[in-house]
Amino acid sequence: MPSHLPPGICENLPRTLRLHGLRPTKQRLALAQMIFGQGHRHIAAEDLHKEAVHNGLELSLATVYNSLHCFHEAGLLRIIIGEGSKRWFDTNLSDHHHFYLEETRRIIDVPAGQNGAPLISNLPPPPEDMEIAQIDLMIKLRRKAAANSRKAEPK
Ligand SMILES: [Zn+2]
Repeated sequence: MPSHLPPGICENLPRTLRLHGLRPTKQRLALAQMIFGQGHRHIAAEDLHKEAVHNGLELSLATVYNSLHCFHEAGLLRIIIGEGSKRWFDTNLSDHHHFYLEETRRIIDVPAGQNGAPLISNLPPPPEDMEIAQIDLMIKLRRKAAANSRKAEPK
């Protein structure tokens, strides 16, 4: 299990949920197992809902949304906001940025800089009475043109 997940989260999910102020309902436990039981993930509510249905759980999309937001409120997930209303729930709670893969509409973590140094420097100073609370950077990636044309060539 990657170390950036809340430590021991999967060893005793009911306890973890209780410790974070959440009642460990059957549905929450099933969702938590899917979210945290496979290592680090970025997951959209719609995808988690599909996965739940595929696993034989009878859950509405609204229930999945509510549970994800509860996990977020409890500090177990981070929300990453993309274009439009697209949002992902991220099990990696450390400060990090994302690559957005246009082709597959997925996000992946930008590896941390050397020695965990921040990737962004020379930021404009905030107004005097303000401070930077968080920096969420999403870098959009597309395939290089050459790679595209190669792909389109007949075999
Ligand atoms: Zn992430």
